[in-house]
Amino acid sequence: MLLVTLTAGMVACGTQKNVENANPMEYAETITVSDLQEHLYTFAGDEYEGRDTGEPGQKKAAEYIVNFYQEIGIDAPASNPNYYQVIPTEFFNNKMKDSENVLGFIKGSEKPEEILVITSHYDHVGVDDEGNIYNGADDGGSGPVAILEIAEAFKAAQKDGYTPKRSILFIHLTAEEKGLLGSKYYVENPIFPLENTVANLNMDMIGRIDANHEGNDNYIYLIGSDKLSTDLHEVSENVNSEFMNMDLDYTYNDENDPNRFYYRSDHYNFAKNNIPAIFYFNGVHPDYHKATDTAEKIEYEALMKRAKLVFLTAWEIANRDERLVVDKASK
Ligand SMILES: [Zn+2]
Repeated sequence: MLLVTLTAGMVACGTQKNVENANPMEYAETITVSDLQEHLYTFAGDEYEGRDTGEPGQKKAAEYIVNFYQEIGIDAPASNPNYYQVIPTEFFNNKMKDSENVLGFIKGSEKPEEILVITSHYDHVGVDDEGNIYNGADDGGSGPVAILEIAEAFKAAQKDGYTPKRSILFIHLTAEEKGLLGSKYYVENPIFPLENTVANLNMDMIGRIDANHEGNDNYIYLIGSDKLSTDLHEVSENVNSEFMNMDLDYTYNDENDPNRFYYRSDHYNFAKNNIPAIFYFNGVHPDYHKATDTAEKIEYEALMKRAKLVFLTAWEIANRDERLVVDKASK
C-alpha cells in the first residue's frame, strides 16, 4: 500500500477435461497455512533487506518467485521468457536502479487471448538510516506469497486436466511504494493488449486483522468491485456465498471515504484503463510502514482464507462462458 497523507486526496499435461466438471474448492484446499508461512518467513526475512525497489534484497525476492514458478511448472509468458519485465532506471527518472515486475503465465484452453491479471506488489521500503529493516510482511509480502499459492492451485487443476478457459497472468509488481510505478509501467507497456484484459484482482495487505475486526479472521475489505462492472461485483459476491462465506466489508468502497484507498494501490492503473478490478485489503494496523511489520505478526488463517477467495473468484472469471461486461465509466 502506497503511503500518502490523508489530505492528498507448460503445456497442459494429460488431456484437457471439461473444466465445468471440476470442483475448484478441491484446488483451493492446496492453499495452506504452512505453505504461506514457509514463503513469507523467507520473503519477509532480514536477508531480503526490506525489498527496496532496485536493491539487492528485492532482486533476491524476485529470484525466489522465479525459482518457485520453475519448481511447480508455471511458465513465463513467451514474450518474457526469463519471467522478468525489466523497468529501466530512466522510467524512475534515474532515482532508482533497474527493477523488475515478475511474471507467471497459464495459457487458456478456449479463449487464450482473453487475460485475467492477478497482481500484488512485492517491493517494500528497505532499510532506514539507523539500519532498521522494514520487512514488509503484510505490506508487499502477504500479497505476492498469496499469488504463489494461487498459481500453484491453478497448476494442480491443470495437472488434473482442468486448464482455465481464459489465460491467467500473475504479476508481482515492483515500485508500488514509489508511486504505483510497476503497475504504471505495465499498463504503458502491456504484454497482452489491455482491451483483451478482462479483469484485475489485486491483493495488497491481506495478512493482518484490523481493529474494526478484532478476533475475526473471516473478513476482507473489497474495494472497486462494482465501479466498472456489475458482472464483476456479482461474480465476486456469488463465489463468496457459494464457497467461503466471508464478511466482505465495503466500508472503503465508499466514494466519499477520506482514505481514498481505491486510488492507492496497483489495481487503480488497471481501472484507469477500463479494466474491472477488485482490491483486496485488510485495513491498516499499528505496524503499517514500520519496521515491526514482520512475518510472526501475520494471521495465517486469515491470509489463507483470503487467498482462497481470490483463487475461487479468479477461477470463475477465467472459466465462465461470458467475458465480464464493463457497463460503467471509469473515473
Ligand atoms: Zn506500503
